Amino acid sequence: MKNNTLTSISVEKTKESRIHEVDFDNLSFGKIFTDHMFVCDYKDGAWQTPKVMPYQAISLFPSASVFHYGQAVFEGMKAYKDNDGQILLFRPEDNFERINKSAKRLAIPEFPKEYFFEGLSTLLKLDTNWIKKGEGNSLYVRPFVIASEAGVRASAALEYKFFIICSPAQSYYSGEVRVKIEEHYSRASSGGFGYAKAAGNYAGQFYPTQLANQEGFQQIIWTDSKTHEFVEEAGTMNLFFRINDTLLTGPISDTILDGVTRKSVISVAKDNDMDIEVRPIKVSEILTAAKNGSLKEMFGAGTAAVINPISGFGFRDERFELPKIENSFASYFKEYLVALQTNKADDPYGWRYVVE
Ligand SMILES: *Cc1c(COP(=O)(O)O)cnc(C)c1O
Repeated sequence: MKNNTLTSISVEKTKESRIHEVDFDNLSFGKIFTDHMFVCDYKDGAWQTPKVMPYQAISLFPSASVFHYGQAVFEGMKAYKDNDGQILLFRPEDNFERINKSAKRLAIPEFPKEYFFEGLSTLLKLDTNWIKKGEGNSLYVRPFVIASEAGVRASAALEYKFFIICSPAQSYYSGEVRVKIEEHYSRASSGGFGYAKAAGNYAGQFYPTQLANQEGFQQIIWTDSKTHEFVEEAGTMNLFFRINDTLLTGPISDTILDGVTRKSVISVAKDNDMDIEVRPIKVSEILTAAKNGSLKEMFGAGTAAVINPISGFGFRDERFELPKIENSFASYFKEYLVALQTNKADDPYGWRYVVE
């Protein structure tokens, strides 16, 4: 990475905030965006001086590379406000490293660290009123990069745009989630880019997910593309299974995204002397456990919902419902991680990041 030193971000403030039009008690996820956005252009071989400006539509030529070849990567993180009014992020260094890991795989130039953190800080402080204190409130932060160069040549673009946009969010309750263990379609393949938060990975999931929706499932559990014998992950969540009191999750690979929530759950589980195994998980062992009653819980882990309990699953023609249990691992992890994120619990890990 080039050693860019940042002198200043140019800031253009909105003339009139839209915040008064927003009903913060009835937000649907990712629909409304704050007053400002961060933008940085890449051209002539370098990232240019970043800007913070009013959130607005952007203009690109129809030939822009991103529309044709999908050269685009993104991140998802959340900002919170604690009772003292401090703006907090959770492990944002990991998101920064991951967007560059994703970028590298998509032949997108890496983004300088100073720009990322100063951009975040300038933006979040400017839109601070959009981050509400109190239970369940957060600001979903979406950094992303697109290939903006005009021209339909099928090779890595020479021009890009890096953005950060922010959307106020409430605690996410998705209702009961039932998942289908998928054996026909694949999300990612070995040697591919499943580990990257690359736009195309999500586009390719929509159709199989629509088919699963028609069968009564909300989401898909993807299996490995070669044998379909091993579970991998869900759409935007890593997966955990609890068999008796043992917690299982699959290892990170080039087909499984290295989730910040997943690794936080693993650390917390280890520090609580929970029995946790990080290893390839066979579909057949989940079926056996569901049938003999030892499968106690399944849940997804990801920034949007933090922890999302799964109430049942389908495999081929069979349907399984999980028992309703008290003191679930899922609710323990959710409460603890949210307490860490919002400064309601001590942070022995140093995961909390105060925006200054
Ligand atoms: C974003 C994402 C996750 C979860 O990652 P977090 O860092 O915990 O938000 C898991 N799987 C996929 C495919 C994802 O895109």
